[in-house]
Amino acid sequence: MRLIRQRAPELTQQTLGAGAAFTGRLWCGDGRELEHGRVVVDDNGIVVALGDVDDVAVPFGALEIESAWIGPGLVDAHVHLAFGSPADIVARGVVAVRDLGAPPQAAMTWRELSAPHVEVAGPLLTAPGGYPSQSWGRDGFAAYVDDVEQAKQLVQGLAAQVDVIKLALEPNGGPVPSPGIAAAIVESAHAAGREVTCHALTVAMVERALDAGVDELAHTPLERLPTAVVDRIAVEGVRVISTLHTHLRGSDVLANAAALVAAGVAVRYGTDLGNAGTKPGADPRELDLLARTGLGSEGALRAATEPVRPGAAAGLVALLEDPREQSRTWLWPRAVMVGPMLLLRV
Ligand SMILES: [Zn+2]
Repeated sequence: MRLIRQRAPELTQQTLGAGAAFTGRLWCGDGRELEHGRVVVDDNGIVVALGDVDDVAVPFGALEIESAWIGPGLVDAHVHLAFGSPADIVARGVVAVRDLGAPPQAAMTWRELSAPHVEVAGPLLTAPGGYPSQSWGRDGFAAYVDDVEQAKQLVQGLAAQVDVIKLALEPNGGPVPSPGIAAAIVESAHAAGREVTCHALTVAMVERALDAGVDELAHTPLERLPTAVVDRIAVEGVRVISTLHTHLRGSDVLANAAALVAAGVAVRYGTDLGNAGTKPGADPRELDLLARTGLGSEGALRAATEPVRPGAAAGLVALLEDPREQSRTWLWPRAVMVGPMLLLRV
């Protein structure tokens, strides 16, 4: 027998009169969980109250959304918006993304989007002719760095326009920035108040990234990391973005991610949207893989969300099931709210 899933009605945008109230099992993302909870958002899209239904009333005229599970929407720390529409991303439960590689002009316009919330890196900094300028990134996704002075100036100019600097160390795609240039990029970025995220998949390139002082690895490395390198990542407080599913086949990403989690490294959810096999929006496969690294489904959800906080802009979802039990429920949210924009399945 074949089960045929009835196509769910589309999410439609609601006009907010007097705000909205989300009611259901409330998972706050900071360890607090309320069986009968409520989050209230005002007409400007700001979270104004959260707590037990007995303590938090539905404001007069507010739209009430009841669902099995209420909580923060996903934050995808590694996407390429050039390969996926923002509307599709939000409709599948993602409220914020970081675009880690795009032509600068496109990146500037996404930064102005109201939903999802977007941070950008702009172009990947690479050696002349280096990755990804000869492959998927040939249309303006790369910027060349070929000496220390020029690298410093490039980063200084870029830092004013982007949220994070992306360094590419990929010997499979052409020449790679030298250790000296990599270090100059990080130094200039830090001087300008920006962090550096780095594409480094092999042990040698991860070591070059760490020597340069990067803040984050944009992927879980593919080549098995020696214990000493895992420990160094932990001690130096470098974050790692998961991107497990897209690199799973024929690599050691799962073993590396488990070792990094065990060492206490902050591993954050990221899908590398745009890479082979990815789709816009929540990726339940990535969440399931993250859970298997030792984080469990609770830890995976923490790695993919920011806690719900009164006073902050809404980034909420209402789901039909508890996503820790059924991660695919992310694909059909009952409601998604990003700031004052509310999408509801009616
Ligand atoms: Zn990427």
